[in-house]
Amino acid sequence: MKIRQISVYQVDLTLAGGGYYLSGGRLFFDRLDSTIVRVETDDGVHGWGESCPWGATYLPAHGKGVRAAMDEFAPNLLGMDPRRTDRINEAMDLALPGHIYAKSAIDMACWDILGKYSDLTLCDLLGGRVEGPVILHSSISTGTPEQMLTYVDNAVSRGYRIHSCKIGGEDIALDRARAQALAAHLPDAGALTLDVNRAWLPDQAIQVMNAVEGRSIYFEQPCETLDECLQVRRLTSNPIILDENIHTIHDIAHAWRCRICEAIGLKVGRVGGLTKARKIRDFCVAMGIRMNIEDTGGSVLADTAAVHLAQSTSTIHRRATWLCHDMCDVDIAPGQGARNASGETDAPDLPGIGVDLDGIEPGQWVAEYK
Ligand code: MG
Repeated sequence: MKIRQISVYQVDLTLAGGGYYLSGGRLFFDRLDSTIVRVETDDGVHGWGESCPWGATYLPAHGKGVRAAMDEFAPNLLGMDPRRTDRINEAMDLALPGHIYAKSAIDMACWDILGKYSDLTLCDLLGGRVEGPVILHSSISTGTPEQMLTYVDNAVSRGYRIHSCKIGGEDIALDRARAQALAAHLPDAGALTLDVNRAWLPDQAIQVMNAVEGRSIYFEQPCETLDECLQVRRLTSNPIILDENIHTIHDIAHAWRCRICEAIGLKVGRVGGLTKARKIRDFCVAMGIRMNIEDTGGSVLADTAAVHLAQSTSTIHRRATWLCHDMCDVDIAPGQGARNASGETDAPDLPGIGVDLDGIEPGQWVAEYK
């Protein structure tokens, strides 16, 4: 089997409710620039993949960057066997070092092909389906404490029981008020993540984290660097999740060696695709690190691929999964894929990812390699 054509599409995914603020209002988004690819083979099997950074200011990644990087490495993949996913990744890394988020879409489409070819679901290919639901968490925009409680109540009404609430700004008193209001509002063990999106300096993190009651509150990515997060780890006791700091298996190995975190956000696009995410997942399982398994952003296609990775991970190692498309106005594949059902979801029981965009125009046609 050989790759004979790669087609590239761009789609704007507008966020419902007018937009979203990360970390103290520094990062505002009202739409996500997503890239969708269709990889076609010479024996008629094809696969779909997606890479969608969360805006341009969240990570060193942006929508136009996905397509520019793809223009460098996609021609090198023509004629290769897409079922050999490690070989595909080596070819992409050889053609263009770095830019790993851009490679996720093609890697995802190759796994979709492998699933369709072998008549297996993606979760079975990634280790085997764990029966039972994948628990979801909401993503709560920052705001005043009162606004954030309203956002949480809206999410609760849609079935969510775990909430990732964005705090983190220069006003430490306001962050303390946000944290304390949310902690009082969500007293259930493990129901609350306070995601700082790296906005604090270590002394600010230590002040706020030590002022909030309850050891079962998770604090996510309190500071910019691993060293800063390590300083915070040594002087606080709540569980810490690392998210933006984890790009490669070397990052998580370093974090584990230094005992910086108890959990990570494993975002498929940020770590370069399912092939690399699976290796990080397996490292975390071996080392006892819990994971939020999801994608950086995207439509139901990227979300469903990430749900398969979660579905193939033992429940004790999972914390929760986020569905980006559940926050968007645009639905590229109505009725398909993993959807929010009262705060839970599950991976489709179909070959590959189980989201087929054939007959659907998944956005603007951008490029074709053949
Ligand atoms: Mg995060």
